Amino acid sequence: MNQSFKTTCCYCGVGCGIVVNKDKHGKLTIEGDKNHPVNRGMLCSKGMNLHYTVMDTSDRLLFPEMRLNKNLPRQRVSWDDALDRAAAVFKTLIQKYGANAVGFYVSGQCLTEEYYVINKLMKGFIGSNNIDTNSRLCMSSAVVAYKMALGEDLVPTSYDDLELADCFFIAGANPAWCHPILWRRIETHKAKNPHVKIIVADPRKTQTCALADLYLPLNPGTDIVLNHAIGRLLIEQGNIDLGFIKNHTEGFEAYKNTVMQRTVEEAAKICGIEEADLRLAASYIGESRGFMTLWAMGLNQSVIGVNKNLSLINLNLITGHIGKAGSGPFSLTGQPNAMGGREVGGLANLLPAHRNLNDPKHREEIQKFWKGTEISEKPGLTATEMFDALRSGDLKAIWIVCTNPLVSLPDARLAEEALKKAKFVIVQEISSKAETLQYADIVLPAATWLEKEGTMTNSERRITYLAKAIEPVGEALPDAEIICRFAQKMGFHGFDYQNTEEIYNEHVLLTKGTNIDISGVDYNLLKNKSIQYPYTLENRQTKTNPEGTKRLFTDKIFHTSTKKAIIHAVPDVNESELPTPTFPLILTTGRIRDQWHTRSKTSKVSKLNQHISESFLEMHPDDAVDRYLKMNDLVDVFNLRGRLRVKVKITTDIKKGVVFLPMHYGKILASELHRTNNLTHNLIDPQSKEPDLKFCAVQVKKYHKP
Ligand code: SF4
Repeated sequence: MNQSFKTTCCYCGVGCGIVVNKDKHGKLTIEGDKNHPVNRGMLCSKGMNLHYTVMDTSDRLLFPEMRLNKNLPRQRVSWDDALDRAAAVFKTLIQKYGANAVGFYVSGQCLTEEYYVINKLMKGFIGSNNIDTNSRLCMSSAVVAYKMALGEDLVPTSYDDLELADCFFIAGANPAWCHPILWRRIETHKAKNPHVKIIVADPRKTQTCALADLYLPLNPGTDIVLNHAIGRLLIEQGNIDLGFIKNHTEGFEAYKNTVMQRTVEEAAKICGIEEADLRLAASYIGESRGFMTLWAMGLNQSVIGVNKNLSLINLNLITGHIGKAGSGPFSLTGQPNAMGGREVGGLANLLPAHRNLNDPKHREEIQKFWKGTEISEKPGLTATEMFDALRSGDLKAIWIVCTNPLVSLPDARLAEEALKKAKFVIVQEISSKAETLQYADIVLPAATWLEKEGTMTNSERRITYLAKAIEPVGEALPDAEIICRFAQKMGFHGFDYQNTEEIYNEHVLLTKGTNIDISGVDYNLLKNKSIQYPYTLENRQTKTNPEGTKRLFTDKIFHTSTKKAIIHAVPDVNESELPTPTFPLILTTGRIRDQWHTRSKTSKVSKLNQHISESFLEMHPDDAVDRYLKMNDLVDVFNLRGRLRVKVKITTDIKKGVVFLPMHYGKILASELHRTNNLTHNLIDPQSKEPDLKFCAVQVKKYHKP
């Protein structure tokens, strides 16, 4: 019998709806869901080939493995043996060193239900807040900035707003490659409305710039200088919304004083762009009726990431472009469920439903609800801090779920050293090729996309249900089930869920009355349609907001104590590792169109490998001439932290003095000498703890065979 299942793409934060068709032989085909409001039937190259990653099971982990000590190889064991040992080790370490001796490092690819149970286990029962996620590496600066500016981590806009805006300022993002379907909607909108203006700021002339009316090739790290200069021009030209500023914001005078400290001429020089282009950007924004700022990792992954975010959000606040059609600041999430992780509080400093760990009332509410141990007020270790603590010996054991830190963390040397020093490492994974497995004492095979059900939330607060279409391979289990079985082995109550729906219902209960109230949402509703939060029980009963909440802050009431948005005057000086005569080039990193994260899925699809088949270094012709390099020469890229060897691609699409490497390549699925994080610095933003993955100093030399 042929069957169809509705689900969502498990790659990027756009969150496209997919229909999976299964024929009577079990063969899968997929198509874009024509009824899904995000993609209306469209899929990008990664999405339309997603089923191949499931059908090719050649690399899948099929059963639990364990080793009795570090000198022995892992051997196949039963689930009971693996989880009994995991529980015994965790109990011993907690008894001897305290609850903060263990930690979970999870992923923005986990389903909301999985995030929820891991967070509950760690904060509510083990008694430590040491749970953090690889989303820390991509969007935590936006979380902090939204909270500081708007009083709550809430994305104010929707994809539908993209089709109502007449001016976009895209900063530090390449949606044409990294959020392709969202970009297709902008392309179509511009094709129908040629007056729509697109401004792109990026040190690299990416595919996104092809559609730009104005491309600002700024120097890396100068984003705040650029945003402040635009702010100054908007003020000078009178293109600000004084009524909105007066009635609905705080901090404008301090901001004005700050942005007036640099002349536009000086700012243009620092940014490495033409003064006339700065003025043109300000006039496009000033003349617009619907203005949206869009950004991603280019702003977030920075040692000053929060301030970069705030300086951009300020442009929406001073022009009053928020809470109305076609307007607002819109951070694009990289991962499919970074937003779901935020909802359930799956970060080291959060509690469920956007509650705060540092609020005693919030801790008490959650503790009473879970009926567990006292929730510690001490924030947990964040992503890079966990690996620092493994190296120092403060953290003894780490449980890694659905992420590959040996490739994705900055300064890979430090991650390797951390996992070598760890007393105990558990890795819950789908692929036998994930680099991190080499340090695992226990390996737990996880079910993948289509092998389990649950929910995810995309960049525009839209929750979509993912149906289970096939059985997991071998003995693999859904991640939530693995965690619940472990929790029961630890002797904890409250993890005897009969299915994921029960977990979701528990999460929903905790949102009631909060700013992300989804008390009107359940699986029955989600099986029929996706919904944007908030969506309350009252919404459901009275049939108001039937699709959920498209746009926030339409009443101009923000979630700060004064109900006003806050315009923050932030310093504009970059604090990254600066180039030196020995390491004179700035290395920036990013994604390529057809690969995803550390390639454990996309490398299996030959069609995707055809687009760009190996890692490469982008370099400006002037820098290449200085080094006697020609196109496709093999080069060594190095600094004091490490080295890698790739072919050079010489192009005027990158600024002089800047080089670019894709972030995807690791040591097993490519080569140790392709791993970009051999070079990156583990500096972090002091507020968001997000690493400075877009900026470090390197040198490049032609490789000569010994
Ligand atoms: Fe998947 Fe993102 Fe492509 Fe949509 S745009 S199909 S969510 S990778």
